[in-house]
Amino acid sequence: MFLKRLEIIGFKSFADKVVLNFEKGITAIVGPNGSGKSNISDAVRLVLGEQSIKSLRGNKLEDVIFVGTDKRKPLSFAEVNLTLDNSDHTLPLDFTEVVITRKIFRSGESEFYINKTQCRLKDVYELFMDTGIGRDGYSIIGQGKIDEILVSRPEDRRQIFEEASGISKYKYKKEEALKKLIATNENINRINDILCEIQ
Ligand code: ATP
Repeated sequence: MFLKRLEIIGFKSFADKVVLNFEKGITAIVGPNGSGKSNISDAVRLVLGEQSIKSLRGNKLEDVIFVGTDKRKPLSFAEVNLTLDNSDHTLPLDFTEVVITRKIFRSGESEFYINKTQCRLKDVYELFMDTGIGRDGYSIIGQGKIDEILVSRPEDRRQIFEEASGISKYKYKKEEALKKLIATNENINRINDILCEIQ
């Protein structure tokens, strides 16, 4: 699996549609200070479901939508499409290409799509679990991240190893199953209460 294409519309400094095609191997993005290099990795974080606006270097979601200039009106939404080559089927989908889309609106709402089909953030999160790419993955190492890992608590550092070794998906599924079990037990208790009242 590799990143094939990134399409950015209305996100931060990219008012017009910008398309970046990536080849296999190493790609370096260079440019003067403030030209938008970090905005590109922010766009990748956004589409992968980043919920912390601080991580996207903003205070609220609308800060990352093109804010406008003297000559240009602000935009009402931003969209990022990330295309992955999935010919090795690393992602458990029957597609050789997977496109993840996130649209964000000034109201603070977000929409997610997998191959143009609207889905939940949870679906994107689960799709990338244990691949190292997702929101909590280690594929984007920003400035200061290495220091952060080195000084983090052992429990937090462990999460990185769990993601890399492919067990975080199972931990997540266990937590989900436990939540369902608790909800089911609560429902049983409620039914028993009703039965006692009727009898
Ligand atoms: P450096 O090399 O200094 O790290 P960089 O190339 O990584 O810089 P970025 O931090 O990606 O640059 O981009 C900063 C630019 O993005 C600034 O000019 C800023 O005004 C612009 N920018 C950020 N948010 C928005 C927004 N919502 N609308 C328009 N422009 C924005």
